[in-house]
Amino acid sequence: MSLLVDNIGELFTADEEHGVRNDAALVADGGAVVWIGPAAEAPAADERLDAAGRAVVPGFVDSHAHLVFAGDRTAEFAARMSGEPYTGGGIRTTVTASRRASDDELRATCARLTAEMLRQGTTTVEIKSGYGLTVADEARQLRIAGEFTGETTFLGAHTVPAATDAEEYVDLVCGEMLDACAPHAKWVDVFCERGAFDGDQARRVLTAGAEAGLSPRVHANQLTAGPGVRLAVELGAASADHCTHLSDADVDALASGSTVATLLPGAEFSTRSPYPDARRLIDAGAAVALATDCNPGSSFTSSMAFCIALAVREMGMTPTEAVAAATAGGAKALRRDDVGRLAIGARADLAVLDAPSHAHLAYRPGTPLVTAVVRGGTVVHQEP
Ligand SMILES: [Zn+2]
Repeated sequence: MSLLVDNIGELFTADEEHGVRNDAALVADGGAVVWIGPAAEAPAADERLDAAGRAVVPGFVDSHAHLVFAGDRTAEFAARMSGEPYTGGGIRTTVTASRRASDDELRATCARLTAEMLRQGTTTVEIKSGYGLTVADEARQLRIAGEFTGETTFLGAHTVPAATDAEEYVDLVCGEMLDACAPHAKWVDVFCERGAFDGDQARRVLTAGAEAGLSPRVHANQLTAGPGVRLAVELGAASADHCTHLSDADVDALASGSTVATLLPGAEFSTRSPYPDARRLIDAGAAVALATDCNPGSSFTSSMAFCIALAVREMGMTPTEAVAAATAGGAKALRRDDVGRLAIGARADLAVLDAPSHAHLAYRPGTPLVTAVVRGGTVVHQEP
């Protein structure tokens, strides 16, 4: 079944060859983009989606989300907004609730949040474990995550469980837990931070994961300028996520390596913390992605548009840079070239905006602009 998306006022492809085009059309067939050109020259197709002069962007690639959890942390958020600092310790609250939840309860939350993301234009999402912290619970969370995405990440090293020795826990993560989780995961991740895992422990987790066939990515430099970013670059990780507190050496490492700096401004917003300096990274030549970090503690947003608005308003990005970071940037952070851009052969994932330009994603913050979503060449959401 082929699909013609016609009358596109502005087609933002996030692709070097195709750029930003006005009065464009796009044809999908077999799930992929097969034609891009002027609307006046558009070929016929089995189905037609009339963009009515609106802007079209690639489906967002949310490369960092924690969606397998149970429980509620509204009170913690309210306390933080009343002046309590964020320390990352609340993760254990979610661990306790998630261990108690049934598979179906965890699955239902994951289904609700991924559906919420899809309606807002997110067509690719990465999902981490990390709220189990036992062999059985981490494996269970990854099995459930795998029902919703192929981009699954083993994050047994999210935090050290209560009343547990950190070194002994790292032994477990790198041993029995990794053995149980590796068949269900594509990536391995670690929260490298003071109060979580230090540089040596993070290196052990990532190296063991890589030996088990998982590709590394790192929660790095969120709360302090620790060793996470340089470790990520040294190990060739696909992404160093957060990058809020960076030394000049960290920025140089990101600029010279292949590791994407994934910025998660929803976390700074929701913890009332200073934002990462995207401008500094881009000017240095680093690749930048934007993602939601959707999780019940430090960033309970599923909106990539909100993150784009924050990146433009608070982090020095232009609207064009921010939309590219939320699409092609996220794809690069997942080492994917079939999503996050609209080009011949890429997956036909796109969002139609009720706006004339991609810049409205930042210009109209908090406004739901996505009116239709296409994934794999099929219309999967359409506003009435
Ligand atoms: Zn995270």
